[in-house]
Amino acid sequence: MPKYIIVTGGVLSGLGKGIVTSSIGLLLKSRGYNITAIKIDPYLNCDAGTMNPFQHGEVFVLEDGGEVDLDLGNYERFLGINLSRDNNITTGKVYKNVIEKERRGDYLGKTVQIVPHITDEIKRWIREVAEKSGADICIVEIGGTVGDIESMPFLEGVRQLHLEEGDENVVFVHTTLVPILKVVGEQKTKPTQHSVKELRAIGISPDIIVARCSTPLNKETKAKISLFCNVPMNAVFSSHDVESIYEVPLILEEQGISKYILKKLSLQYKDAQLEKWRKFVERVKNGENLLNIAMVGKYTALGDSYISILEAFRHASAELNAKVNVVWIEAEEFEGEKELKNVDAILVPGGFGERGAEGKIKSIEFSRKNKIPFLGICFGFQLAVVEYGRNVLGLDCHSTEIKPNTKHPIIKILPEQQGIEELGGTMRLGAEPIIIKEGTLAFSLYKKRLIYERHRHRYEVNPDYIEKLEENGLIFSGIAEDKIRMEILELPEHPYFVASQFHPEFKSYPLKPAPLFYGFINSAVKNKYG
Ligand code: GLN
Repeated sequence: MPKYIIVTGGVLSGLGKGIVTSSIGLLLKSRGYNITAIKIDPYLNCDAGTMNPFQHGEVFVLEDGGEVDLDLGNYERFLGINLSRDNNITTGKVYKNVIEKERRGDYLGKTVQIVPHITDEIKRWIREVAEKSGADICIVEIGGTVGDIESMPFLEGVRQLHLEEGDENVVFVHTTLVPILKVVGEQKTKPTQHSVKELRAIGISPDIIVARCSTPLNKETKAKISLFCNVPMNAVFSSHDVESIYEVPLILEEQGISKYILKKLSLQYKDAQLEKWRKFVERVKNGENLLNIAMVGKYTALGDSYISILEAFRHASAELNAKVNVVWIEAEEFEGEKELKNVDAILVPGGFGERGAEGKIKSIEFSRKNKIPFLGICFGFQLAVVEYGRNVLGLDCHSTEIKPNTKHPIIKILPEQQGIEELGGTMRLGAEPIIIKEGTLAFSLYKKRLIYERHRHRYEVNPDYIEKLEENGLIFSGIAEDKIRMEILELPEHPYFVASQFHPEFKSYPLKPAPLFYGFINSAVKNKYG
């Protein structure tokens, strides 16, 4: 039977609860336990697919095509595992199931209520995912902040889960904030006290408190939290500011968090294997070859909307003694050469719609002509084809997503997408097989013929133009199994001009960077540092 670790958050959001969850998972995995993780999002959307990434952060895509909260990306990266769409529970999904059951008549005339029907469905879901995964330990992170109306049914659900599973099988970890007031310079514990009080009013007593603070918690602070929040002093952990998120597991481990959890769950003690991770963190921190990489997107201010790309930079840089400084370029205001003069590489990420498209195309042209390493992802891939069509083939072409009646629809809607009207979960989603052509740059990076990469799109290269593009020097080095769908393009006689219809960033891990990112960073380092 799996054991459960429930992670809740207090005081305010954005404290790195997802990183704490991922870190705990990594530490227990390093001690030989199988881990799975569930993220609960207390909103009514059925999944993150319809949510604006500039408000909520990136929509992460799983192997099975689930469009999920970005925290699942953190879990996959820290734990090196593949999760499924069921590992992301939302209020929408839970209510949808319960309402469907009610319509089927499954409740046999009962009044259907939040307690017990919604809470039962929450518990059923958590248990089913945990059991199906075969994991020893299932970590459940509850999004939002304790006290929100939205998260109440979920907190009630896990309170019952604890009661039913027993004290030995469930650990509650509560993450909070310890602010430091500038004038006095003192670490303040009152917000933590209040948030624990709130949690206890719901019937949950935390076993462990992880407090976010700009500096390491000092002894007095820990003692105070211990006393007022009713947890032993060695169950108060400091999650202070560090240079890299990948360091968080190490600082928690130094304070003994995984040993404490194993003891609480009556699990056997096993040694931790963290050497490789430690070395990786050192490499992330000490990269010497600084690269300025332009990200040409929209609303680029919210870094979280491109989190997987930023992490993929780190994974690749760690193996190449590099460090990336991202130069955010707002595609819509992009004026051309001036902004790109001093960058070492250019990335055009995925996107939707007209705004900024012309700026992106201009930046692709610039990188092609000036031989600056370029990586295009999804929309970036499609616009690279448009750029080539216009400036090399001389066609007045576009994607029909942006210009439906363009003379040359070089990018057009996928045949199976025609007529689809619902927006939720209807794109071409998830991992699909791709055949790599031998002798290409892509083959030298993947080193194999068959790969699986994750997709999220509605448009593709129009097959009618492939021959003409290839005759004019563009190489499609990765093609879907059906031989109709173009997946990777590259240009010879350019240090690195590569784009993919899929999203390589969703399968990039510490110690195992995504091949297309590795090649991109590698060529930028070579270009700049020789
Ligand atoms: N808008 C494009 C499409 O739907 C690209 C999508 C993306 O970049 N994820 O095909």
